Amino acid sequence: MNRYRIAIIGAGSVGLAIARRLSATEKAIILLERHATFGQDASTRNSEVIHGGMYYPTDSLKARLCVAGNRSLYELCDRYDVPHRKTGKLIIANSSAERNEIEDIYRQGEINGVPNLRLIDVLEIRRLEPQVRARWALLSPESGIMDAVALMRFFEQEAIANGVSVRYNREVIGLEKRAGLFRITIRRSDGEIEEILAEAVINAAGLFADNVAAMAGIDIVKNGYKIHWVKGEYFDVDRRHSGKMSHLIYPTPTPVSLGIHVRLRLDGSFALGPNAIYVDAINYDVDPKHLDDFYHGAKRYLPFLSKTDLTPGITGIRAKLQTQGEPVRDFVIRHEADKGLPGLINLIGIDSPALTACPAIAEEVAGIYLNL
Ligand SMILES: Cc1cc2nc3c(=O)[nH]c(=O)nc-3n(C[C@H](O)[C@H](O)[C@H](O)COP(=O)(O)OP(=O)(O)OC[C@H]3O[C@@H](n4cnc5c(N)ncnc54)[C@H](O)[C@@H]3O)c2cc1C
Repeated sequence: MNRYRIAIIGAGSVGLAIARRLSATEKAIILLERHATFGQDASTRNSEVIHGGMYYPTDSLKARLCVAGNRSLYELCDRYDVPHRKTGKLIIANSSAERNEIEDIYRQGEINGVPNLRLIDVLEIRRLEPQVRARWALLSPESGIMDAVALMRFFEQEAIANGVSVRYNREVIGLEKRAGLFRITIRRSDGEIEEILAEAVINAAGLFADNVAAMAGIDIVKNGYKIHWVKGEYFDVDRRHSGKMSHLIYPTPTPVSLGIHVRLRLDGSFALGPNAIYVDAINYDVDPKHLDDFYHGAKRYLPFLSKTDLTPGITGIRAKLQTQGEPVRDFVIRHEADKGLPGLINLIGIDSPALTACPAIAEEVAGIYLNL
């Protein structure tokens, strides 16, 4: 049976960033992914926004790793030619209640150490974004957009160059600690079953990370690891409007999402989304009946929009730890030694802003692993 020092489960942006980071110093690493290639779940089904980090609670992992990830990601994209643009972002307000909300976000951003945040008025909004209707806005100059596939390809190629065995079409179906080693059972896409041994396991399985933790014998309900899936749909906007905005435009956030915003692409085209719907099954279709909600929501601040400009786009599913109505939960990034599983590092509830945070999450996991 093949034996590895580290097995990483999941080749999304997080698993790949960890593989790249650990392979800089460690040998005998295997990365296992059930799909035929990387990033087929959340990591390519999102807004590709490099977040600033102002929304998240004081001292949370989300706040710390988003602010650090934002900085690392720009450095990395600049250095390795990953397409990206620091567009800046406006969180807009059109009522006094919304104005209070953006002031709160501003204060939270200051606490979180987000640089260069500024509250701006209608005159400056008109100068920056003449097509957008808003009375006040919070300007986050450090927010931007990137090419998530190019980022993951870069991580994958560096990991491979550093000697990581990247194995696609391999679904982990069993994980058991025996005699100081993890025995991992894998189902290949051709139906064959294989087993490998690993000294340490890093669970970066995204939507199924709770499942993987349960395989190792963890009670996911008792430990608060049960993941709830929250679908987000996008509607594409007719390309005749491409280039009309240069900043990301966001409304004020809701408890489960940052709100239906302008998802700018690097080519100047844009979409609206995502909404947030708790679901029990993975289905990436857009419900065309939601078009009206998107249209009316966005028309408030994008007066040039017509209903016929919108067509169904992509969807993604978030891995959330809170059920509907519960307070926002933080990422869980944890060495499970106290659960009798030394060597297992779980990453659970890795929803937004994990694409932004992935280089900082990788640093965090490396810090845990190197101190095992
Ligand atoms: C609609 C939406 C919009 C978002 N917008 C943004 C944004 O603009 N900016 C931002 O920073 N974040 C955003 N996010 C969050 C971000 O996309 C995710 O947090 C991030 O991609 C999570 O990466 P991951 O690697 O943990 O998960 P994933 O990309 O889901 O990867 C997990 C991988 O594990 C694999 N896997 C699962 N189980 C097994 C198994 N048993 N065996 C083998 N492999 C397995 C899966 O196939 C998958 O490839 C958004 C998310 C959504 C859904």
